[in-house]
Amino acid sequence: MTSADGKTYIVEHLDEELGPWSELEYLAIALESHDAGAKFFLSSLPPSFKVPEALNAVSSFTPETRSVEEIYASDKSRVCLLDPAAAKDLSPEDGESFDVFLFGGILGDDPPRDRTSELRKKGFEGRRLGPKQMTTDTAVRVTRMVVEGKTPLLDVPYLDYPELKFNEHESTEMPFRYVAGKDGKPIMPKGMVELIGKDGDKTLDDMF
Ligand code: SAM
Repeated sequence: MTSADGKTYIVEHLDEELGPWSELEYLAIALESHDAGAKFFLSSLPPSFKVPEALNAVSSFTPETRSVEEIYASDKSRVCLLDPAAAKDLSPEDGESFDVFLFGGILGDDPPRDRTSELRKKGFEGRRLGPKQMTTDTAVRVTRMVVEGKTPLLDVPYLDYPELKFNEHESTEMPFRYVAGKDGKPIMPKGMVELIGKDGDKTLDDMF
């Protein structure tokens, strides 16, 4: 059974710019939220921020210049921060206690720099998605599987640190946890593998 009704996913944009990697992640979140009947907000956008056309075209997506603190000033208890440092793991029951799920709009880094702390300081109740760092779209996907699909965190089919092969000689190990798709491959935003493989000279660090 799924219950997306009324669920809102918010990514608080914490990076200066919107790089191509984030753009693909945010579009994947928007499309999946839309398909599930949930809302997706990208908050704290600078007023000058140009929302990519593809993202703007998704009707359940809302760009916001306000921060999540401002939007939920009087209603903080509805918001659950997905926080790699939280003491408690997310459970299907959290879908009954919270209707807003908040994520850091931060590109993954290796080792993680704990920039989610910027949101933790604001006092939202936190839940962890297990011990491994996920990309932001994976974190939203897993949260949805747990709170809407009622799948316990430990039953989600994960793929850790998958190797992406571009050709016979070139491959890259992704330093993140992903959800495994039906084909056994990591679920990644459309166009991401191509983006990573596009420039053979670029290391992953350049892309983050
Ligand atoms: N390097 C990171 C940092 O500086 O905190 C993690 C960034 S992660 C790519 C982006 C967001 O996904 C985090 O801010 C968090 O909301 C969510 N996330 C990723 N892995 C998570 C985990 N294991 N538990 C809870 N949230 C996670």
